[in-house]
Amino acid sequence: MLTRTMKRATAAAKGAGGAAEKRAAGGGRARGAGVQDGCAPPCLSENAPGDSTAKPPQDRERRRRRRGLVIEYESDSIDPKTSRWEPQSWERQLENIREMRKNKDAPVDQMGANKCFDQDATPKVMRYQVLMSLLLSSQTKDQVTSAAMEKLRGHGLSPENMLHTDDKTLGELIYPVGFWKSKVKYIKQTTELIVRQYDGDIPDNVAELVKLPGIGPKMAHLIMDIAWNKVSGIGVDTHVHRIANRLKWVKKETKAPEETRVALESWLPRELWSEINWLLVGFGQQICLPVSPCCSDCLNQDICPSARRGTSKAKAQNKAQ
Ligand code: SF4
Repeated sequence: MLTRTMKRATAAAKGAGGAAEKRAAGGGRARGAGVQDGCAPPCLSENAPGDSTAKPPQDRERRRRRRGLVIEYESDSIDPKTSRWEPQSWERQLENIREMRKNKDAPVDQMGANKCFDQDATPKVMRYQVLMSLLLSSQTKDQVTSAAMEKLRGHGLSPENMLHTDDKTLGELIYPVGFWKSKVKYIKQTTELIVRQYDGDIPDNVAELVKLPGIGPKMAHLIMDIAWNKVSGIGVDTHVHRIANRLKWVKKETKAPEETRVALESWLPRELWSEINWLLVGFGQQICLPVSPCCSDCLNQDICPSARRGTSKAKAQNKAQ
């Protein structure tokens, strides 16, 4: 993936002035700033030798800038009106994050949704368990989700078994995940739909997944990726949302994860969509923390627009104690 390089070429002056400019430049592709208002040829010509009234080149340049520039692009470059925006230095920032995540020792690496299902279960049950772990994960730390999933698996986490489990027992199994009472209802309703409409399997597309109670777009894209091995979109949670804004990976600040997802998908190459969630979630758990990010320990501190000085991991940990 190469960063697009736009070569700024000569600004074409309009009308006769523009033609004259090209002639003055020797008939080839002119380079440098042009003028918008059809500046007459003399302002583009060289000062006559010995002309004491002639302005120095810097003054001429300033005058041109004040009049406003019309930038043309060489034929082999990309028209800025139609080109895709992408953030500055994102490839270096991404490489740095990969380097910082190379040990795979963040909570998401040990307890994320792709670690919470029973590897020996049938494919249908495995997919159901992926869906359940993501449903439980909203507003809940990975450690708590993982513990609840372990209890559920011990109880027997299949659609049939869940339908025969009463609400009280289910509540005790998943407590203390965030909003556990609502999630008891979501699990029951979602499981009923899966059994009734999908023959005990989970839907294989985002449009139908988001119709299930308790499943939002972020979860749906992650379910598609983990359970069906299909990349349908970027799973943007609170970490991905925050870090994308800190690194200015969104053209304009975004207010909600769904807005961030659309903004990221507009420029991030599709082959990175699956990796980016995992990378940024772990990075957000260890370095780019929600409060007091550890910028002094971050390899991006010199190229991050939001870097703060003097906020190391050790300091953040001391503060938390
Ligand atoms: S420099 Fe700080 S704000 Fe920027 S990515 Fe690193 S930890 Fe996050």
